[in-house]
Amino acid sequence: MHEKFLPIRPLPPGELLSVLRDHAVLSRYSLALYNDAEILLARHGQTERFCGSAAESPFCTEPCQSVCRPKINWRGTRIRPRVYRCPGGLLYFVIPFKHEPAVDYILLGGGFREKFIDIGRLERLARERGVNGIDLLESWEELPSTSLEEMHRTAEEANLLLESLGNGQFHALSLERILTLFNGVAGIGPELDRVTSTEGVLALLSESLTILFSLSRIAVALPLPDGGVSIRDLLDHQAPTLHHDGKTGSILLRGAERRHFLLSGERAAQLLPGYEVKRLVCFPLNAGGRFSGCLLLADPRLSSSELVLVELLVSRAAIRLRLLLDDQEHGRDLFLTNRFMDRLGALTLARSRNELLGSVLNAATELLRARKGSLMLVDNAGQTLRIAASKGINRELAVNLRIPVGHGIAGGVAQRGEMLLVRDIEHDPRIAAANRPRFQSKSFISLPFKIGKRIIGVLNLSDWETTTPFTVTEEKLLGALLDHSGALIERAESIKRTKHLEALTITDPLTGLYNRRFLKERFEAEISRAIRKKESLAVMLIDLDHFKNYNDLCGHLAGDAVLRQTARILQRSAREMDLVIRFGGEEFCVLLPGASLSEALHVGERMRRAIETEPFPRQGSQPLGTLTASFGIAAYPENGLSAQSILGAADVALYQAKDQGRNCIVLSEPMVPREKISYL
Ligand code: GH3
Ligand code: MG
Ligand code: MG
Repeated sequence: MHEKFLPIRPLPPGELLSVLRDHAVLSRYSLALYNDAEILLARHGQTERFCGSAAESPFCTEPCQSVCRPKINWRGTRIRPRVYRCPGGLLYFVIPFKHEPAVDYILLGGGFREKFIDIGRLERLARERGVNGIDLLESWEELPSTSLEEMHRTAEEANLLLESLGNGQFHALSLERILTLFNGVAGIGPELDRVTSTEGVLALLSESLTILFSLSRIAVALPLPDGGVSIRDLLDHQAPTLHHDGKTGSILLRGAERRHFLLSGERAAQLLPGYEVKRLVCFPLNAGGRFSGCLLLADPRLSSSELVLVELLVSRAAIRLRLLLDDQEHGRDLFLTNRFMDRLGALTLARSRNELLGSVLNAATELLRARKGSLMLVDNAGQTLRIAASKGINRELAVNLRIPVGHGIAGGVAQRGEMLLVRDIEHDPRIAAANRPRFQSKSFISLPFKIGKRIIGVLNLSDWETTTPFTVTEEKLLGALLDHSGALIERAESIKRTKHLEALTITDPLTGLYNRRFLKERFEAEISRAIRKKESLAVMLIDLDHFKNYNDLCGHLAGDAVLRQTARILQRSAREMDLVIRFGGEEFCVLLPGASLSEALHVGERMRRAIETEPFPRQGSQPLGTLTASFGIAAYPENGLSAQSILGAADVALYQAKDQGRNCIVLSEPMVPREKISYL
């Protein structure tokens, strides 16, 4: 029969030491485990409190090495545990014990000073080491103190403990310890799920690590938008956050795929300058193949099973962190989209082109929460860019700045018509040193502002407040904002152009007659002239009868043709000096300089008849059997002394003509009998 039991393997020294340090008798002491060849296997506690660590401890000297080494000596300590005082003045105990039949260990414990202070010895020590005596005294006083008797008692108790713990006991204790830790780690999972902020996750993680694994220095490295990393102490909140560029940050990224990796020496010191770190164990915060940062444990003393548990806890925290970050991004996108819609709505309310440009810049800076921004427009010749709206930029500079298209960052964007997003100005090869803008932040965005394919300017944004990287959503929204604004500007421009053209023209495009604007200007001039020359001036308002009916039956195009034909009839029937105007719709106006009411009636009658007899197509269905017009006539000075009052009088007369059955002329009732008029 084969032996069914598996041989019990000795516990790894680190785990063995973890079991021992958990015991009340030993928990206060710095402990070290040596093998029988006097090789150090594991340590727990502050480095400077170890006997033999001459390099780190101010109290450990070279003669100390020669005095203390023999004390640890296996053969010398075979019989009983012993206590010794090192030349530095610290008390230690040395206990040999057997862990497995084949494995002999020596437990070294201590790092305590005696209660009384031997000033003379400290002075000697300070001289020997070339350090300040007062500093040394202060360090000395900070050490925990004990007495020689107490140390002997502890050594006896620890010896009893080691004897009573058979091999199996050690394993059972170790297992129990790991199980307790495992339960601790497992219990944190649901707690992590309840945390709703990334800060909360990091706080819970660092707190759990400190409690479960007695870790004292924990930091977190988080990626920055510019490719670098920021490193923050999670336990000491007073410690300043460190910023590293992409080059240093990449040290952490290289191990991002692993569950943990070790950095030591130069590279550890480089990441945490001022911390005097020798070993940095890094745990990437990885979830779903996405890297959210790295947890850094400085000089941890972890057994291999503890390391696995820390990995477990970190990966659990990383999942929660990822979910929160995704939520944040999603929420941010939603928030951005909503804000964007509001801003777009506001744009359409702009009353002028300048106001619109200002609103575009405001919307863009708000969208990105950028502190600085400018909207530059290309001049008519397409040669230079000028700032049309700016935020956070010196006014003087903004007003006077001219950038040739093709030069600098904005000039280049205006020429190429492509967006330029720079995450790190210092390291972006596209930015020549001479071109670097004087922005506070290292990242900025420059976008072409287009109307269709035509580049009309450049939008620049920099110094945004968010530390998270510029997202695709933000990029898309900005693009949409510019497209939309481009369309609005185009509309504003075309309205402006139309108005401008309208202002220039005095003719009506449908009939070729003078338009109402012309009437407004000319009427005033004609009145002045009539006053000056002591002449009369008649005005005639003509409105086609039942024209809506004609339009409805024959269509709008036929209606237009009638309007054009009527215009020709009116012009033909008017006197040479008369001005025929399209007043609006199917209404016309004739100014008859020098004509009195009766003279105007004569001309009007000619016109009325010409319209009535004109063979307009399909006019048979009109209520009067034919297309006709009604006339109202008024004159200066009988019916008023101003253009407005005379026109008003003509309108009243026209209304009366309609009232009297249409196809007729009504002369405005003179305000004063003609014979009583004395010309002004
Ligand atoms: P009334 O005899 O009372 O003047 O009747 P009406 O139908 O002529 O009067 P109304 O003012 O109700 O309608 C005027 C119509 O003239 C309405 C519109 O269809 C037509 N109209 C106005 N401007 C134009 C135009 O430029 N082209 C065409 N085809 N029709 C027009
Ligand atoms: Mg009308
Ligand atoms: Mg009409």
